[in-house]
Amino acid sequence: MVMQSVNSSVVEDLDNFDSYFLTNSSQSIAAYKQAMAIAQEAIIEAFASQNQPYSGVNPQDLAKILATIEPCPEFGQQLQNILTNIGENILNHSAIISHPACIAHLHCPPLLPSLAAEVLISASNQSMDSWDQSPAATLLEQRLIDWLCKIFGYQTKADGVFTSGGTQSNFMGLLLARDAFAFHRLSWSIQQQGLPPEFQRFRILCSDVSHFTISQAASLLGLGQQAVVMVKTDSNYCLDADVVERKLAELQSEDSLPIALVGTVGTTDFGSIDPLPELADCARKYGLWFHLDAAYGGALILSDKHKHKLDGIWTADSITVDFHKLFYQPISCGAFLVKERKNFELIKLHADYLNPQTNQDAGIPDLVTKSVQTTRRFDALKLFVSLRNLGKKKFARMIDSTIELAQETASLIKNQPKLELANYPTINAVVFRYLPSQALTAFDCERVNQINSQIRMQLMQQGIAVLAQTKISELTYLKFTLLNPRTSLVDIKKILQAIQEIGDNL
Ligand SMILES: *Cc1c(COP(=O)(O)O)cnc(C)c1O
Repeated sequence: MVMQSVNSSVVEDLDNFDSYFLTNSSQSIAAYKQAMAIAQEAIIEAFASQNQPYSGVNPQDLAKILATIEPCPEFGQQLQNILTNIGENILNHSAIISHPACIAHLHCPPLLPSLAAEVLISASNQSMDSWDQSPAATLLEQRLIDWLCKIFGYQTKADGVFTSGGTQSNFMGLLLARDAFAFHRLSWSIQQQGLPPEFQRFRILCSDVSHFTISQAASLLGLGQQAVVMVKTDSNYCLDADVVERKLAELQSEDSLPIALVGTVGTTDFGSIDPLPELADCARKYGLWFHLDAAYGGALILSDKHKHKLDGIWTADSITVDFHKLFYQPISCGAFLVKERKNFELIKLHADYLNPQTNQDAGIPDLVTKSVQTTRRFDALKLFVSLRNLGKKKFARMIDSTIELAQETASLIKNQPKLELANYPTINAVVFRYLPSQALTAFDCERVNQINSQIRMQLMQQGIAVLAQTKISELTYLKFTLLNPRTSLVDIKKILQAIQEIGDNL
């Protein structure tokens, strides 16, 4: 059937698919090269014209722009036109993560080698669930997992799997914690039998500044948020092992069943790191699964200067680590590690079509047995390519420089009379607020909160900077998350200046 294409004079043959897939044909290769060149051009164009972290467009106006785009036309249009349009309407109104003043969240500029690797990942399109869909990729992911286990100080019984990020890794940690507790203490298989009668007494301890995905996991695991006991942190936003221990004694006396203790290695707001060896002792004494959420701080393991902050991380039964944060990988990329690989048995399933027992008997590795995902991306490749391209020293230098910048930023804030510093940074997050000196009465609290929120909004709308905000006991604070090694003290000084000017004018 021959049809007229809407947007071009070329006659389109609806039965010709060859230039739509990458194969060994010269027609396909030419089409691939052209498609990639167009994509490259669109992204270069968008980046070349960026001189602020966000265009400043408000949500209503942006919605109007996007409403005019038809998602699925009857006949295809030229890729060139589509991507040019996306450049103008989407890329130009995206957050420019690599801009030095885009410093809101744990959201990193991605490394160039990882962008090159993404091209290989998507074109080869390996699926990590079964060996027959990803032979070499399965083994490369396993090599990276083995390397990760080693650098975190785990022994040969350890294992792990790549995940979509911290949310999934924390979920898996608590899933294994719950199932291991039921299996070993109650002789109960949750996988087979569902939750045991005692489930409402299960408790998970974490700090009051731990990530919200701990509560989310508890609720998804059928334990409810009521199972999460948030222990108050000290003035540095860290757990105190004595306070944890008192809490555990209290829970025991009221007949609760603590199953897990979660420590955070780099809290999202403050970068604070819980006392790992002391918490490990506590967990051992009470027979708890010890999970460490190192989504943010795990990267310090690469730094000779800062890795001592992670001492004791190897005592954890499981570890969450994210690569799309301080390892500078494009989203998504994370890993879940376990000290004893036999724990994966608790969640193992066999599908006849995918990973039959006969594969396992024959020594064929199907990674689906270790994951809660089935079809899964070969994200290990981009981390592998980045590590090899930069080398450990360069990675460490990037991380170290951001920590230095955070410390210098904190000192600057401390010396500004109208700014109030909330934390001395352990990693590279700096929390502070604008505090006009005349704000003295209790009534002013709400006003100061509003001023800080407005400062943040104006910085974004004027395209000056993208900052985050957070709350500390009902007070609104601003947050810099200084992941970008290209952000300089000069950039920071400009932003602090703008914050005070906007604040003074409100
Ligand atoms: C970012 C973060 C998470 C969530 O990870 P995602 O990769 O966003 O799913 C969990 N814990 C901590 C401490 C984090 O910083």
